[in-house]
Amino acid sequence: MNVHDSERLSGLLEDAGYLKASEGTQADVVVFNTCAVRENADNKLYGNLSHLAPIKEANPDLQIAVGGCLAQKDRATITEKAPYVDVVFGTHNIGSLPVLLERARVQEEAQVEILESLEVFPSTLPTKRESAYAAWVSVSVGCNNTCTFCIVPSLRGKEKDRRPGEILAEIEALVAEGVSEVTLLGQNVNAYGVEFGDRQAFSKLLRACGEIEGLERVRFTSPHPAEFTDDVIEAMAETPNVMPSLHMPLQSGSDRVLKAMRRSYRSTKFLGIIDRVRAAIPHAAITTDIIVGFPGETEEDFQATLDVVRESRFSSAFTFQYSKRPGTPAADLPDQISPEVVKDRYGRLVDLVNEIAYDENKKNVGRTLELLVAEGEGRKDSSTNRLSGRAPDNRLVHFDAAGVEGVRPGDMVKVEITRAAPHYLIADNPVLEVRRTRSGDAWEARQGQTEPETRSVGLGMPSVGVPAPLPAAPACG
Ligand code: SF4
Repeated sequence: MNVHDSERLSGLLEDAGYLKASEGTQADVVVFNTCAVRENADNKLYGNLSHLAPIKEANPDLQIAVGGCLAQKDRATITEKAPYVDVVFGTHNIGSLPVLLERARVQEEAQVEILESLEVFPSTLPTKRESAYAAWVSVSVGCNNTCTFCIVPSLRGKEKDRRPGEILAEIEALVAEGVSEVTLLGQNVNAYGVEFGDRQAFSKLLRACGEIEGLERVRFTSPHPAEFTDDVIEAMAETPNVMPSLHMPLQSGSDRVLKAMRRSYRSTKFLGIIDRVRAAIPHAAITTDIIVGFPGETEEDFQATLDVVRESRFSSAFTFQYSKRPGTPAADLPDQISPEVVKDRYGRLVDLVNEIAYDENKKNVGRTLELLVAEGEGRKDSSTNRLSGRAPDNRLVHFDAAGVEGVRPGDMVKVEITRAAPHYLIADNPVLEVRRTRSGDAWEARQGQTEPETRSVGLGMPSVGVPAPLPAAPACG
């Protein structure tokens, strides 16, 4: 959600005449788009701001803006702690950034503007997409749940749904530009439709995506187990371009802890969904988020989490050591677990998750898979002559690119999997088939683009990158 917001900020600023600063040059404007779901967001922000203080002192024309969840939460204190910040804006008014920068420049004083609720759905804002072939598409923002560890409801507000026609029009426009994969994005996609009274709106949306010609891959993140209904499983199984992957946050396998987290499902329900998904989509890769060391978690509760992990056979999991988020109900709960215990449990959980992920990955050796060639996902690409791509189930595959010069991010290749590792697969035999796509053309067209000279902008945090097919942090739900 935060990365997609950064794409919107880039689009807005480009629309207002700014240009992305090139590497090694000094930007005229630096924007920090903060995420309070992550640990230590405030320390990281103030650390980054303090690095800019001497640069600002030497160049008073430099403008610094801070937005996102932390700005929404800390608002006035940001300009108290870092008085050289020019603009503070919240999650509900990212569209105001160009105006606030201009006003700060003209009035020569800091502008702090935080709205309490969303007035314009941010998808109507101009967006500068980082990837030519894959795109995030918001279906909703905000969340009506009240998980006790989560800061999202107080910062992003109640759920707001976009109308299906608007979402589908955005996807069609993206496909016309060359995008072949979209990830539908919402804090709780299964609740989509609650605002306009259609409980099956999300499964209908998936099926409607299946009708869009040229759209090769549809993913979504994240569903909430409590609201997961069978019509979504049926739509996934019966819509060929909806990919066989599911990211469904478990958080804990202990019913007692789930209750304390105010997660309104129990482990039996979670496992039931997984059984039905596997029955309908046998090759589905299922991933999850798990928090270890929630206040009051006993060794028995932790064992219940390990039991669910064993039974669910996740192909990967984002695992987190619980840490307090000021402003959340769980931050004030008694029985906070000592860091040593949390660390020990975390280590045992990660070992189990990795062992299962490795076993599950090994089952893919010998299979032929079609990959969407990815940009920037394989760190060892240049040294090994491998390229990387994503399988339909979202597994990362590094493949031998010898003999397929000219294959571009966004193209499709068929490969045979020769080896597995806990976090990726290897395909070291020659590529079986290359399919050049319109996405590859779109990627190539971008490489030659030049841009007009104007004021330059740098996005400070987080890094703005290609939509990661797997969420980079608890994506909620
Ligand atoms: S964890 Fe997800 S479902 Fe729970 S309150 Fe946060 S955003 Fe909503």
